[in-house]
Amino acid sequence: MGFFKWVSPVVVLLYLVDSALVYSSSLSSNDLSKIPSELLDFAKAPVIVDWMVGIRRKLHENPELGYEEFKTSELIRAELDKMGVRYNYPVAVTGVVGFIGTGKPPFVALRADMDALPMQEMVEWEHKSKIPGKMHACGHDAHVTMLIGAAKILQEHHEELKFFLQGTVVLVFQPAEEGGGGAAKIVSAGALENVSAIFGLHVDPSIRIGEVASRSGPILAGSGIFEAVISGKGGHAAIPQHTIDPILAASNVIVSLQHLVSREADPLDSQVVTVAKFQGGGAFNVIPDSVTIGGSFRAFSKESFMQLRQRIVEVITGQAAVQRCNATIHFYTEERPFYPVTVNDKNLHGHFRKVAGDMLGIDNVCDKKPLMAAEDFAFYQQVVPGYFFFLGMQNETRKQLKSFHSPYFEINEDMFPYGAALHASLAVRYLLDFQPKDPLVEGKYHDEL
Ligand SMILES: [Zn+2]
Ligand SMILES: [Zn+2]
Repeated sequence: MGFFKWVSPVVVLLYLVDSALVYSSSLSSNDLSKIPSELLDFAKAPVIVDWMVGIRRKLHENPELGYEEFKTSELIRAELDKMGVRYNYPVAVTGVVGFIGTGKPPFVALRADMDALPMQEMVEWEHKSKIPGKMHACGHDAHVTMLIGAAKILQEHHEELKFFLQGTVVLVFQPAEEGGGGAAKIVSAGALENVSAIFGLHVDPSIRIGEVASRSGPILAGSGIFEAVISGKGGHAAIPQHTIDPILAASNVIVSLQHLVSREADPLDSQVVTVAKFQGGGAFNVIPDSVTIGGSFRAFSKESFMQLRQRIVEVITGQAAVQRCNATIHFYTEERPFYPVTVNDKNLHGHFRKVAGDMLGIDNVCDKKPLMAAEDFAFYQQVVPGYFFFLGMQNETRKQLKSFHSPYFEINEDMFPYGAALHASLAVRYLLDFQPKDPLVEGKYHDEL
């Protein structure tokens, strides 16, 4: 009954005298500031930690790629069923959207991504991936676990919550973050209708456990991929005059693409064009008919991103033509939609610093430099104010953890209480801040919370 510690005895008494009159403003700022640390204490209980670790290990052993997260989704639904949390399924193929609260506004959403990566795990441990060539190497197994943990925290406190809280926490378990743009499909499915704000987190092996990091404004880049087939005329390597060499043309294309960032972009406006793929030819003495190149481009504003996109087309076609080649360019936006820039809402940044500061101490709420990595969380931020932050998991007593997408990537499971409690606290405190001004008179309160 930890929640009672947050409210003064007078408020509880008022509630008992007339439960039709409940004002969130009855909670003092002192009461509010205690919520995050109380929820963290709850999440640190060995029984909760062991339960979360068990879930994460099951997920880790059974990684599934984007839009194939059927077993992952099944596990999530089974846990929500056990807790008595209502949900919609399927949303965006494998997604699950749960609801805790009155089912009425205000709505605040918490998001976890579910998908793994097409790579072989190289970490030898008891709960290594059982699926060859698939691995949770970005920590999405931990993200799912911590959101289920947050659901548990909220459900376990629902009796206390309904004394002074109106509103609904929306739990978004989304598919396909790793390139598939699952968030965009969740938005298209209408899951964020009426939602006022959304929070998401990512584990971070470069930050110490017990610390979090983020910033207001742009934090992750907009991102897209491109592929170009440069076609010439193949022939004998000894008779180049009878060929149109696509290898040389592609090489010039790649050099010219480097000028987009070094000569055309504002040096203070970070952008990246990387050619990561070059395929052509198979013999020492044959000039091939065509070469395929491909890569990634990123920018921190929509304008810069779209400018890069346009110039990539112009440079590839123009430079190929100089070399007498043809070029066709694909951005594959159907399968891999452009990810917008992840831009954190200014007001939610203030909210995050307050809540995380109350839980961890403000010195452990760090500023994060923007990264050129991308996140499909940005799709949510295009329709509602959103906030994305990084959760530390580096423990000084452990060896240095490997970075995301490494086959040696590991999770420090000690971080789970922090992530679960932060999710729950961000939502509860958000709802408390946004309680309707009028007293709740209708039917005292709803049964669901
Ligand atoms: Zn990733
Ligand atoms: Zn990730």
